[in-house]
Amino acid sequence: MDDLYREIILDHYQHPHNHGELPDANIHAHDTNPLCGDVLYMDIQLTNNIVSDVRFRGKGCAISQASASMLTDEIVGKSLDDVKKIDKQFILDMLGIPLGPSRIKCALLSLKVLKNGAYGITEWPDDDEE
Ligand code: ZN
Repeated sequence: MDDLYREIILDHYQHPHNHGELPDANIHAHDTNPLCGDVLYMDIQLTNNIVSDVRFRGKGCAISQASASMLTDEIVGKSLDDVKKIDKQFILDMLGIPLGPSRIKCALLSLKVLKNGAYGITEWPDDDEE
């Protein structure tokens, strides 16, 4: 079963969905994972409080970039309130493979950037302790 998920992750990494930028979007967010060198930018277009479009760009490992590709697929059509409810477990379920502590930071970078955008903040507290 892991192999299937690994293939999906690799496919998203090599052929990312929603890749690019939306210069006129109303939300621009960005964050980094210095431990791995992952960088992520996200542009989110909100229309009547619903995510109508999203693009991301960045660089880094397969997990961080695939996670962003998959997460951006998930949020289109969601309300801002629903986006705020997305949690760590959602990301882990979405990726579907067991991740060590350092890889989890890679996986969660996309969520961090999304929350930065959703809450309009530039800093997101490290919430490793649940
Ligand atoms: Zn990484």
